[in-house]
Amino acid sequence: MTHETLKKPGSNDSLNLLLTNAIKYGPKISHNRPLVKMSVALAEKWFVDHGEYRLKTENKPAGVIKDQTAFCLAMLNSANRAILECKLSEATYREASRILMRDALIEQSPRKAVTDKFREKYGYNSPTFLVISPSRACNLHCTGCYADSDEQVQSLEWDVVDRIVSEAHDLWGAQFIVISGGEPLAYRSQGKSILDLAEKHPDSYFMMYTNSTLITNEVAERMAKCGNIIPAISLEGWRERTDARRGAGVFDRVMEAMDRLYEAGVIYGVSLTATRENVDEILSEEFIDFLFTQKHVLFGWLFQYMPIGRSYTLDLMPTPQQRAWMWEQGWRLIREKKVFLADFWNHGTVVDGCLSGGGHGVGGGYLYIEWNGNVTPCVFVPYSPVNIKDIYAGGGTLNDAFAAPFFAGIRQWQAGLKSGRLLNPCLIRDHNPVLRQLVSTHGAHPIDANAQAALQDQQYGGGLDVYGQSYAQITDKIWQESYLNKSQVTPLPEKG
Ligand code: SF4
Repeated sequence: MTHETLKKPGSNDSLNLLLTNAIKYGPKISHNRPLVKMSVALAEKWFVDHGEYRLKTENKPAGVIKDQTAFCLAMLNSANRAILECKLSEATYREASRILMRDALIEQSPRKAVTDKFREKYGYNSPTFLVISPSRACNLHCTGCYADSDEQVQSLEWDVVDRIVSEAHDLWGAQFIVISGGEPLAYRSQGKSILDLAEKHPDSYFMMYTNSTLITNEVAERMAKCGNIIPAISLEGWRERTDARRGAGVFDRVMEAMDRLYEAGVIYGVSLTATRENVDEILSEEFIDFLFTQKHVLFGWLFQYMPIGRSYTLDLMPTPQQRAWMWEQGWRLIREKKVFLADFWNHGTVVDGCLSGGGHGVGGGYLYIEWNGNVTPCVFVPYSPVNIKDIYAGGGTLNDAFAAPFFAGIRQWQAGLKSGRLLNPCLIRDHNPVLRQLVSTHGAHPIDANAQAALQDQQYGGGLDVYGQSYAQITDKIWQESYLNKSQVTPLPEKG
């Protein structure tokens, strides 16, 4: 069959039907299992057909299209599990279907006018989302974490956080806000909390990274009522490893928090940080099965330890060989078990590379704003050209942060990266000399003493250079063998 005779799959009506019904009927839709199963099967077929059509018509490496298709199928499976296995609250159903799936991912209609205007002005897509750490305060004292409660608490005022979220929505069309920390649930300013923020912005969808120990029954109930805020709960692995880093009893408290969220009807996921010591454990089939099957986890974010912050060390980073294993194992889990598991460093093929600096990726990128107001390219790059409080004091907006030359320089570098670098796209970890050059050219300042020390530490910079080169050699081979060579690319999953 030639390109000319290939039929482009129509619009994904089955998925839209599922979402429309999920919004209309809420939790009651789960009583109509045949309707759900039929809609999911049709949506799955659409994704597979669409992937095959793209393979034959798009000038993109075959492996990239197959990764993207496999990821969409994993997300669909999570939606299916959410409807059929979880006892989600009315508001959770409504807001997840309305904001997260339909508005932000599928139709994108509410943001279209805003993003068109932004593109006209800046020549770039607006950032798709924003990450804010409103406070450094935390109720735990995990080994090696940058956040703690010993020092004077550093926090952004509620007014500033509130304004940032409003501007992200109104100026960028960004409806997805990630809250990091410190511990988001420990944040208090002007009598307000993170839950107040979610309630005040019903057209935005919030995900917070949390240790979960402050999720009481009341908090879970409030989240269920709100519907637009979901937690990604941190774990280091099984009980022994989690408690060793986070404190005695924390693993059990996390399990209890998950049970509370499940009973209240809230969607929740996990946030797993891979180090040289726990890679095998957190990506083992047993651990993933336990979380996704027994504990009803619907999504997982996989971080690889980044040598930034207090007591930074290169010795905890997964080695290049371990990272390559993570790439292989992660995709195996996604393809075979259809778990929605995203690895921030290894899944550049899904999002078109590095998302820092507010731009570039297929869905646009993001910026990060920390507790002192410093705006940085991403959570893991602690160098900042501007402070949002200064921008506001000078009469500016979030758009002035986006336009900073440091961020523009990053976006320019991203746009010039070869597609083979989708496997090692990270500005700070894989291309550290580029980052140092951009920091120096644009005078971005370190946001704290650790970031300053790292910049001057030749062993640190040299170590990351060696890491980047060594991982590039591995990924060059993977790219040739698994992404460009069509015959050896993992086949698409069976049609559902
Ligand atoms: S710089 Fe690295 S950590 Fe930050 S968005 Fe890019 S790939 Fe991710």
